[in-house]
Amino acid sequence: MEPRDLSDHTVYRAGRGIEEVARELGLDPDDLVKLSSNENPFGASPKAVEAVREHADRVSSYPKSAHTDLTEKVADRHGLAPEQIWLTPSGDTALDNLARAFIEPGDRVLVPTPGFAYYPMSARYHHGEVDEYRLEKADDFEQTPETVLDAYDGHRIVYVTSPHNPTGSEMSLDDVRTVAEETDEETLVVYDEAYIEFTDSPSAIDLVEGREDVAVIRTFSKAYGLAGMRLGYAVAPEEWADAYARVTTPFGVTELTCRAGLAALDDDDHVERTVEGARWAREYMHEHLDADTWESGGNFVLVEVGDASAVADAAQREGVIVRDCTSFGLPECIRITCGTEAETRRAVETINEVLAEVSA
Ligand SMILES: *Cc1c(COP(=O)(O)O)cnc(C)c1O
Repeated sequence: MEPRDLSDHTVYRAGRGIEEVARELGLDPDDLVKLSSNENPFGASPKAVEAVREHADRVSSYPKSAHTDLTEKVADRHGLAPEQIWLTPSGDTALDNLARAFIEPGDRVLVPTPGFAYYPMSARYHHGEVDEYRLEKADDFEQTPETVLDAYDGHRIVYVTSPHNPTGSEMSLDDVRTVAEETDEETLVVYDEAYIEFTDSPSAIDLVEGREDVAVIRTFSKAYGLAGMRLGYAVAPEEWADAYARVTTPFGVTELTCRAGLAALDDDDHVERTVEGARWAREYMHEHLDADTWESGGNFVLVEVGDASAVADAAQREGVIVRDCTSFGLPECIRITCGTEAETRRAVETINEVLAEVSA
Protein backbone atom coordinates (compact mmCIF):
# COMPACT_ATOMS: atom_id res chain seq x y z
CA MET A 1 0.00 0.00 0.00
CA GLU A 2 0.99 3.63 -0.25
CA PRO A 3 0.44 6.88 1.67
CA ARG A 4 -2.31 9.17 0.37
CA ASP A 5 -1.58 11.50 -2.56
CA LEU A 6 0.82 14.07 -1.10
CA SER A 7 1.96 15.58 -4.40
CA ASP A 8 0.41 18.96 -3.45
CA HIS A 9 2.38 19.00 -0.22
CA THR A 10 5.80 20.58 0.12
CA VAL A 11 8.64 19.63 2.40
CA TYR A 12 9.64 22.26 4.95
CA ARG A 13 13.12 23.53 4.12
CA ALA A 14 14.76 24.54 7.37
CA GLY A 15 17.86 26.69 7.65
CA ARG A 16 20.80 24.30 7.68
CA GLY A 17 22.16 22.96 10.95
CA ILE A 18 25.60 23.93 12.15
CA GLU A 19 26.89 20.34 12.55
CA GLU A 20 25.66 19.44 9.08
CA VAL A 21 27.49 22.37 7.48
CA ALA A 22 30.63 21.89 9.59
CA ARG A 23 30.88 18.25 8.54
CA GLU A 24 30.40 19.13 4.89
CA LEU A 25 33.03 21.87 4.94
CA GLY A 26 35.42 19.99 7.23
CA LEU A 27 35.27 22.82 9.76
CA ASP A 28 34.94 22.94 13.53
CA PRO A 29 31.30 23.80 14.41
CA ASP A 30 32.67 26.36 16.87
CA ASP A 31 34.17 28.32 13.97
CA LEU A 32 30.81 28.67 12.26
CA VAL A 33 28.28 31.44 12.75
CA LYS A 34 24.71 30.27 12.18
CA LEU A 35 22.31 33.09 11.43
CA SER A 36 19.85 31.22 9.25
CA SER A 37 16.96 30.14 11.51
CA ASN A 38 16.15 33.16 13.69
CA GLU A 39 17.28 31.32 16.81
CA ASN A 40 18.33 33.20 19.93
CA PRO A 41 22.08 34.00 19.70
CA PHE A 42 22.27 34.22 23.50
CA GLY A 43 20.92 30.69 23.85
CA ALA A 44 18.18 29.50 26.16
CA SER A 45 17.32 31.28 29.37
CA PRO A 46 19.80 29.93 31.96
CA LYS A 47 16.85 29.49 34.32
CA ALA A 48 15.14 27.25 31.76
CA VAL A 49 18.26 25.13 31.37
CA GLU A 50 18.47 24.71 35.13
CA ALA A 51 14.78 23.75 35.32
CA VAL A 52 15.28 21.07 32.66
CA ARG A 53 18.19 19.59 34.59
CA GLU A 54 16.32 19.74 37.85
CA HIS A 55 13.28 17.90 36.49
CA ALA A 56 15.06 15.36 34.32
CA ASP A 57 14.14 12.50 36.64
CA ARG A 58 10.40 13.27 36.35
CA VAL A 59 10.10 12.13 32.77
CA SER A 60 8.61 8.74 33.64
CA SER A 61 5.26 10.40 34.37
CA TYR A 62 2.89 12.11 31.94
CA PRO A 63 3.05 15.88 32.26
CA LYS A 64 -0.08 16.91 34.12
CA SER A 65 0.45 19.61 36.72
CA ALA A 66 3.29 21.24 34.77
CA HIS A 67 0.97 21.63 31.77
CA THR A 68 -1.74 23.18 33.93
CA ASP A 69 0.74 25.46 35.70
CA LEU A 70 2.23 26.71 32.45
CA THR A 71 -1.18 27.32 30.90
CA GLU A 72 -2.16 29.36 33.94
CA LYS A 73 1.08 31.29 33.96
CA VAL A 74 0.76 32.19 30.27
CA ALA A 75 -2.88 33.21 30.77
CA ASP A 76 -1.90 35.32 33.75
CA ARG A 77 0.76 37.11 31.72
CA HIS A 78 -1.84 38.23 29.23
CA GLY A 79 -4.61 38.83 31.75
CA LEU A 80 -6.70 36.07 30.15
CA ALA A 81 -8.56 32.99 31.29
CA PRO A 82 -6.60 29.70 31.11
CA GLU A 83 -9.34 28.40 28.77
CA GLN A 84 -8.08 30.86 26.18
CA ILE A 85 -4.60 29.36 25.99
CA TRP A 86 -4.06 26.45 23.60
CA LEU A 87 -0.66 25.19 24.80
CA THR A 88 1.13 23.26 22.04
CA PRO A 89 4.48 21.67 21.25
CA SER A 90 5.59 24.58 18.98
CA GLY A 91 3.98 27.53 17.28
CA ASP A 92 3.65 25.31 14.21
CA THR A 93 1.51 22.89 16.18
CA ALA A 94 -0.66 25.78 17.35
CA LEU A 95 -1.29 26.47 13.65
CA ASP A 96 -2.15 22.79 13.19
CA ASN A 97 -4.59 22.77 16.07
CA LEU A 98 -6.43 25.77 14.66
CA ALA A 99 -6.52 24.12 11.24
CA ARG A 100 -7.87 20.91 12.80
CA ALA A 101 -10.53 22.84 14.62
CA PHE A 102 -11.65 25.03 11.71
CA ILE A 103 -10.98 23.49 8.30
CA GLU A 104 -13.52 21.22 6.66
CA PRO A 105 -12.23 19.32 3.61
CA GLY A 106 -12.09 21.69 0.65
CA ASP A 107 -12.20 24.90 2.70
CA ARG A 108 -9.95 27.61 1.31
CA VAL A 109 -7.31 29.50 3.28
CA LEU A 110 -5.41 32.67 2.35
CA VAL A 111 -1.66 32.89 3.04
CA PRO A 112 0.95 35.60 2.43
CA THR A 113 3.58 35.21 -0.25
CA PRO A 114 6.44 35.56 0.36
CA GLY A 115 5.60 33.96 3.65
CA PHE A 116 6.01 31.30 6.27
CA ALA A 117 5.94 27.89 4.58
CA TYR A 118 4.05 26.16 7.34
CA TYR A 119 0.69 27.92 6.79
CA PRO A 120 -0.01 26.17 3.47
CA MET A 121 1.54 22.94 4.70
CA SER A 122 -0.69 22.85 7.75
CA ALA A 123 -3.82 23.78 5.80
CA ARG A 124 -3.16 21.04 3.23
CA TYR A 125 -2.64 18.35 5.89
CA HIS A 126 -6.10 19.24 7.01
CA HIS A 127 -7.54 18.96 3.50
CA GLY A 128 -7.73 22.70 2.94
CA GLU A 129 -7.03 24.50 -0.34
CA VAL A 130 -4.55 27.35 -0.45
CA ASP A 131 -4.73 30.80 -2.09
CA GLU A 132 -2.13 33.53 -1.74
CA TYR A 133 -2.00 37.28 -1.23
CA ARG A 134 1.12 39.07 -2.34
CA LEU A 135 3.38 41.35 -0.34
CA GLU A 136 5.05 43.39 -3.05
CA LYS A 137 8.73 44.15 -2.97
CA ALA A 138 8.00 47.35 -4.93
CA ASP A 139 5.94 48.47 -1.88
CA ASP A 140 8.61 47.33 0.58
CA PHE A 141 6.38 44.36 1.44
CA GLU A 142 3.92 46.77 3.03
CA GLN A 143 1.00 45.11 4.80
CA THR A 144 -2.27 47.03 4.58
CA PRO A 145 -5.85 45.74 4.85
CA GLU A 146 -6.07 45.96 1.04
CA THR A 147 -3.03 43.71 0.66
CA VAL A 148 -5.14 40.98 2.20
CA LEU A 149 -8.68 42.00 1.30
CA ASP A 150 -8.04 42.39 -2.45
CA ALA A 151 -7.32 38.65 -2.56
CA TYR A 152 -10.00 37.69 -0.03
CA ASP A 153 -12.96 35.69 -1.23
CA GLY A 154 -14.75 34.18 1.76
CA HIS A 155 -11.76 32.13 2.91
CA ARG A 156 -12.11 30.05 6.05
CA ILE A 157 -8.76 31.14 7.50
CA VAL A 158 -6.64 34.21 6.69
CA TYR A 159 -3.05 34.16 7.96
CA VAL A 160 -1.28 37.42 8.84
CA THR A 161 2.32 37.50 10.10
CA SER A 162 3.49 40.56 11.96
CA PRO A 163 6.39 41.11 12.21
CA HIS A 164 6.50 39.22 8.94
CA ASN A 165 8.98 36.45 8.19
CA PRO A 166 11.13 36.83 6.06
CA THR A 167 10.64 40.55 5.26
CA GLY A 168 10.28 42.09 8.73
CA SER A 169 7.29 44.24 7.71
CA GLU A 170 4.40 44.79 10.10
CA MET A 171 0.65 45.24 10.00
CA SER A 172 -0.74 47.71 12.51
CA LEU A 173 -3.31 46.64 15.06
CA ASP A 174 -5.92 48.93 13.48
CA ASP A 175 -5.30 47.29 10.13
CA VAL A 176 -5.68 43.78 11.56
CA ARG A 177 -8.92 44.90 13.15
CA THR A 178 -10.05 46.13 9.75
CA VAL A 179 -9.19 42.78 8.17
CA ALA A 180 -11.19 40.98 10.87
CA GLU A 181 -14.11 43.36 10.43
CA GLU A 182 -14.16 43.26 6.63
CA THR A 183 -14.00 39.48 6.38
CA ASP A 184 -17.00 37.22 6.98
CA GLU A 185 -18.06 36.19 10.46
CA GLU A 186 -17.07 32.63 9.54
CA THR A 187 -13.52 33.65 8.59
CA LEU A 188 -10.83 33.14 11.20
CA VAL A 189 -7.93 35.60 11.13
CA VAL A 190 -4.83 33.89 12.49
CA TYR A 191 -2.40 36.54 13.59
CA ASP A 192 1.09 35.07 13.91
CA GLU A 193 3.15 36.93 16.51
CA ALA A 194 6.25 34.72 16.54
CA TYR A 195 8.42 37.88 16.60
CA ILE A 196 6.25 40.26 18.63
CA GLU A 197 8.79 40.61 21.44
CA PHE A 198 11.22 42.31 19.05
CA THR A 199 8.94 45.22 18.11
CA ASP A 200 7.24 48.04 20.00
CA SER A 201 4.01 47.44 18.09
CA PRO A 202 1.09 46.32 20.24
CA SER A 203 -0.02 42.69 20.29
CA ALA A 204 -3.29 41.62 18.69
CA ILE A 205 -4.18 39.65 21.82
CA ASP A 206 -6.46 42.54 22.81
CA LEU A 207 -8.46 41.84 19.65
CA VAL A 208 -9.15 38.26 20.76
CA GLU A 209 -10.97 39.65 23.76
CA GLY A 210 -13.65 41.61 21.97
CA ARG A 211 -14.10 39.40 18.91
CA GLU A 212 -14.86 35.83 17.94
CA ASP A 213 -12.88 35.58 14.74
CA VAL A 214 -9.25 36.21 15.70
CA ALA A 215 -6.63 33.87 17.16
CA VAL A 216 -3.02 34.79 17.95
CA ILE A 217 0.00 32.48 17.69
CA ARG A 218 3.04 32.75 19.95
CA THR A 219 6.23 30.73 20.24
CA PHE A 220 9.03 30.22 22.78
CA SER A 221 11.47 29.49 19.94
CA LYS A 222 12.64 33.01 19.23
CA ALA A 223 12.82 35.55 22.09
CA TYR A 224 12.85 32.84 24.77
CA GLY A 225 15.55 30.78 23.06
CA LEU A 226 13.72 27.47 23.40
CA ALA A 227 13.58 26.39 19.74
CA GLY A 228 14.90 22.95 20.68
CA MET A 229 12.23 22.35 23.32
CA ARG A 230 9.31 22.98 20.91
CA LEU A 231 6.82 25.16 22.75
CA GLY A 232 4.16 27.58 21.61
CA TYR A 233 0.51 28.45 22.05
CA ALA A 234 -2.53 29.97 20.47
CA VAL A 235 -4.63 32.62 22.18
CA ALA A 236 -8.28 32.10 21.30
CA PRO A 237 -11.77 33.07 22.47
CA GLU A 238 -12.82 31.25 25.62
CA GLU A 239 -15.79 29.71 23.77
CA TRP A 240 -13.40 27.59 21.71
CA ALA A 241 -11.81 25.81 24.70
CA ASP A 242 -13.93 22.74 23.98
CA ALA A 243 -12.63 22.61 20.41
CA TYR A 244 -9.05 22.68 21.70
CA ALA A 245 -9.83 19.83 24.08
CA ARG A 246 -11.17 17.82 21.12
CA VAL A 247 -8.29 18.39 18.70
CA THR A 248 -5.18 18.54 20.86
CA THR A 249 -2.82 15.57 21.12
CA PRO A 250 -2.90 14.25 24.70
CA PHE A 251 0.19 15.32 26.64
CA GLY A 252 1.64 16.95 23.53
CA VAL A 253 3.88 19.31 25.49
CA THR A 254 6.51 17.37 27.42
CA GLU A 255 7.23 17.65 31.13
CA LEU A 256 10.66 19.16 30.54
CA THR A 257 9.29 21.57 27.96
CA CYS A 258 6.67 22.81 30.42
CA ARG A 259 9.33 23.23 33.09
CA ALA A 260 11.56 25.15 30.69
CA GLY A 261 8.65 27.39 29.71
CA LEU A 262 7.72 28.11 33.32
CA ALA A 263 11.29 29.09 34.14
CA ALA A 264 11.76 31.12 30.95
CA LEU A 265 8.69 33.22 31.75
CA ASP A 266 10.39 34.20 35.01
CA ASP A 267 13.57 35.27 33.25
CA ASP A 268 12.79 38.80 32.12
CA ASP A 269 16.49 39.68 32.08
CA HIS A 270 17.15 37.12 29.38
CA VAL A 271 14.33 38.34 27.16
CA GLU A 272 15.39 41.94 27.66
CA ARG A 273 18.97 41.19 26.73
CA THR A 274 17.78 39.24 23.69
CA VAL A 275 15.55 42.05 22.48
CA GLU A 276 18.20 44.72 23.04
CA GLY A 277 20.75 42.57 21.25
CA ALA A 278 18.42 42.16 18.27
CA ARG A 279 17.77 45.91 18.07
CA TRP A 280 21.47 46.62 18.06
CA ALA A 281 22.13 43.96 15.40
CA ARG A 282 19.31 45.22 13.14
CA GLU A 283 20.71 48.74 13.25
CA TYR A 284 24.24 47.52 12.70
CA MET A 285 23.19 45.55 9.63
CA HIS A 286 21.17 48.45 8.21
CA GLU A 287 24.13 50.77 8.60
CA HIS A 288 27.03 48.56 7.61
CA LEU A 289 25.84 46.12 4.95
CA ASP A 290 26.82 47.24 1.45
CA ALA A 291 23.38 46.26 0.17
CA ASP A 292 19.76 47.32 0.46
CA THR A 293 17.94 46.13 3.59
CA TRP A 294 14.35 46.48 4.76
CA GLU A 295 13.16 47.82 8.10
CA SER A 296 12.46 44.85 10.32
CA GLY A 297 10.35 44.35 13.42
CA GLY A 298 11.87 40.88 13.94
CA ASN A 299 15.21 39.40 15.01
CA PHE A 300 16.43 39.26 11.40
CA VAL A 301 17.00 41.50 8.41
CA LEU A 302 16.16 40.85 4.76
CA VAL A 303 18.97 41.86 2.41
CA GLU A 304 18.94 42.33 -1.36
CA VAL A 305 22.06 40.63 -2.73
CA GLY A 306 21.35 39.75 -6.37
CA ASP A 307 21.99 36.01 -6.55
CA ALA A 308 20.99 34.81 -3.08
CA SER A 309 22.03 31.23 -3.62
CA ALA A 310 25.54 32.19 -4.79
CA VAL A 311 25.99 34.71 -1.97
CA ALA A 312 24.72 32.30 0.71
CA ASP A 313 27.01 29.54 -0.60
CA ALA A 314 30.05 31.83 -0.70
CA ALA A 315 29.33 33.12 2.82
CA GLN A 316 28.94 29.56 4.05
CA ARG A 317 32.36 28.64 2.69
CA GLU A 318 33.64 31.46 4.92
CA GLY A 319 31.81 29.95 7.87
CA VAL A 320 28.77 32.25 7.97
CA ILE A 321 25.42 30.53 7.44
CA VAL A 322 22.56 32.79 6.34
CA ARG A 323 19.16 32.00 4.86
CA ASP A 324 18.86 31.96 1.07
CA CYS A 325 15.29 33.22 0.51
CA THR A 326 14.77 31.45 -2.82
CA SER A 327 12.35 29.02 -1.18
CA PHE A 328 10.33 32.04 0.01
CA GLY A 329 10.06 33.20 -3.60
CA LEU A 330 12.80 35.83 -3.19
CA PRO A 331 15.80 34.43 -5.10
CA GLU A 332 17.56 37.81 -4.90
CA CYS A 333 17.41 38.08 -1.09
CA ILE A 334 19.03 36.57 1.95
CA ARG A 335 17.75 36.78 5.51
CA ILE A 336 20.30 37.29 8.28
CA THR A 337 19.32 36.53 11.87
CA CYS A 338 20.45 39.03 14.50
CA GLY A 339 23.51 37.48 16.18
CA THR A 340 25.62 38.47 19.14
CA GLU A 341 27.76 41.55 18.48
CA ALA A 342 30.71 39.44 17.39
CA GLU A 343 28.58 37.20 15.16
CA THR A 344 26.79 40.12 13.55
CA ARG A 345 30.03 41.99 12.83
CA ARG A 346 31.54 38.88 11.30
CA ALA A 347 28.43 38.22 9.20
CA VAL A 348 28.38 41.79 7.86
CA GLU A 349 32.08 41.71 7.07
CA THR A 350 31.75 38.37 5.29
CA ILE A 351 28.68 39.33 3.28
CA ASN A 352 30.32 42.61 2.24
CA GLU A 353 33.43 40.73 1.08
CA VAL A 354 31.32 38.25 -0.86
CA LEU A 355 29.32 41.07 -2.49
CA ALA A 356 32.53 42.87 -3.48
CA GLU A 357 33.88 39.69 -5.07
CA VAL A 358 30.66 39.04 -6.96
CA SER A 359 30.54 42.55 -8.41
CA ALA A 360 34.30 42.60 -9.22
C1 LIG B 1 9.44 30.54 14.01
C2 LIG B 1 8.09 30.84 13.53
C3 LIG B 1 6.94 30.22 14.04
C4 LIG B 1 6.89 29.16 15.09
O1 LIG B 1 8.02 28.44 15.29
P1 LIG B 1 8.00 27.15 16.23
O2 LIG B 1 9.45 26.88 16.39
O3 LIG B 1 7.26 26.07 15.52
O4 LIG B 1 7.34 27.52 17.51
C5 LIG B 1 5.70 30.61 13.56
N1 LIG B 1 5.60 31.54 12.62
C6 LIG B 1 6.66 32.15 12.09
C7 LIG B 1 6.46 33.19 11.06
C8 LIG B 1 7.94 31.82 12.51
O5 LIG B 1 8.99 32.41 11.95
